[in-house]
Amino acid sequence: METLPFTLPAFEPGWVWLVGAGPGDPGLLTLLAAHALRSADVVVYDALVDKGALALAAPGTELVYAGKRGGKPSPSQPSITASLIDFARAGKRVLRLKGGDPFVFGRGAEEAVALAEAGVPFRVVPGITAGIGGLAYAGIPATTRDTNAAVTFVTGHASTGEVPDGIRWDDLAKGSPVIVFYMALKHLQTIVDRLIAGGRDPNESAAIVASAATPAQRVVTGTLAALPRLCAEHGIEPPAIVVVGDTVTFRDRLAWWEPAGTAVERVTV
Ligand code: SAH
Repeated sequence: METLPFTLPAFEPGWVWLVGAGPGDPGLLTLLAAHALRSADVVVYDALVDKGALALAAPGTELVYAGKRGGKPSPSQPSITASLIDFARAGKRVLRLKGGDPFVFGRGAEEAVALAEAGVPFRVVPGITAGIGGLAYAGIPATTRDTNAAVTFVTGHASTGEVPDGIRWDDLAKGSPVIVFYMALKHLQTIVDRLIAGGRDPNESAAIVASAATPAQRVVTGTLAALPRLCAEHGIEPPAIVVVGDTVTFRDRLAWWEPAGTAVERVTV
């Protein structure tokens, strides 16, 4: 990177940086994330991290994939944390790179706790989470003054693989004007049914934003009740964010980005 008019912390050997890469578009990396990529000895990255972001790593950087591949299960969480600790104890600069923000439905907290308990020094670099930045790429604001004074982030998929049962669906349906679901496609019908059973208007606006902020971005909008059918008809695949609420209607005016045909420019940062 060109010299910046301020200083960034040095990436010291033996440290782990737990870094969010944002949702897709490598242009959404923070300066700290780009700096970490340039400085790391080893990068342990997840499935949703964009290849363009990884290309920022210096030649010779060890790149370790820690996501699912070819239908095989991902490495277990304990084995990922153990490898972070081992690399750090071997004196490496360890970059743990995750999609979006590391502390939003990304198990970053579990990894940070393991590092803290092992006495390994670490830094957390937040990233732009898909439930905010991904929606923005679809022209859907997380809040507007006219529509919602609150927004709720919900996972549609508990660690058991089922719809999370710790959620009071009636309260959620009635209490949050905008609800943003992560990992919601598998149980979309159940989620929609529970929201409507909890008092949500079946005709409320809703959207699915798949592969947000990537060249493969697809956006489907419709009523809440129709969303599962639209998802199937359009063959929408994960990763996707599902959003329910009146902010979705802003997309009519704010759909500023369509991946195909977007002019791109090479800039030096
Ligand atoms: N830490 C991540 C979330 C990890 S959970 C973050 O802050 O964004 C994985 C889920 O995130 C996916 O199932 C999907 O719901 C969402 N997601 C991540 N990247 C996405 C993208 N580019 N487009 C749409 N959804 C995305």
